Amino acid sequence: MLLKELREEIVETGIKILRTGLVTVTWGNISARDSETGYIAITPSALEYDKITPSDIVVLDAEGNVIDGKRKPSSETPMHLYIYSQRPEAKAIVHTHSTYATAIGVVRDEIPLIIGEVANAVGGSIKTARYGVEGTVDLGKAAVEGMSGRAAVILQNHGVVTIGRTLNDAFFNAVVVEDAAKVFCIAKSLGSITTIPESEAERLHQDFLETYGIQ
Ligand SMILES: [Zn+2]
Repeated sequence: MLLKELREEIVETGIKILRTGLVTVTWGNISARDSETGYIAITPSALEYDKITPSDIVVLDAEGNVIDGKRKPSSETPMHLYIYSQRPEAKAIVHTHSTYATAIGVVRDEIPLIIGEVANAVGGSIKTARYGVEGTVDLGKAAVEGMSGRAAVILQNHGVVTIGRTLNDAFFNAVVVEDAAKVFCIAKSLGSITTIPESEAERLHQDFLETYGIQ
């Protein structure tokens, strides 16, 4: 089986995003890029995460041609391919519809830098991208613009996209974004927000990169 290990990792990541409550039923999608071939392995369309097996994962080339796999690739494949084309360091993408971050993408243009984990993993505040139509390359363009060099973005009225140098990084970032969104919603209900200074954010991010090697 082509890219067997990557396919297995994608299946495991699917179970993780399901168990951590970042997705329900079949929402969201996951992909990873093989460094040697440049091929992209991606979850199939409309299959529940706890039912996906490695053979259900679809392998594509950078243009989206199917190299291996019988299933239909995720409907958000154009977004994944565009992000990979613009972010060469990205080796994995996780897209979820996690509730709190999605709620923020309905009403606000960012999650300010309020907890250290976000500075560590993402490098600064998490922006909400402009609206993009589901299933289009334009959604990928909106995501890349909104990320502005960072590792996470909220899609307006839609969900969250994170990237990483491994699937675990991208999963970790998706968890961090949702945690930050929860803290933000609770903190806002308690009073006015204080944020971490930008200079501190840079230090936290660099420390984390050196320690964990996550983007
Ligand atoms: Zn989506």
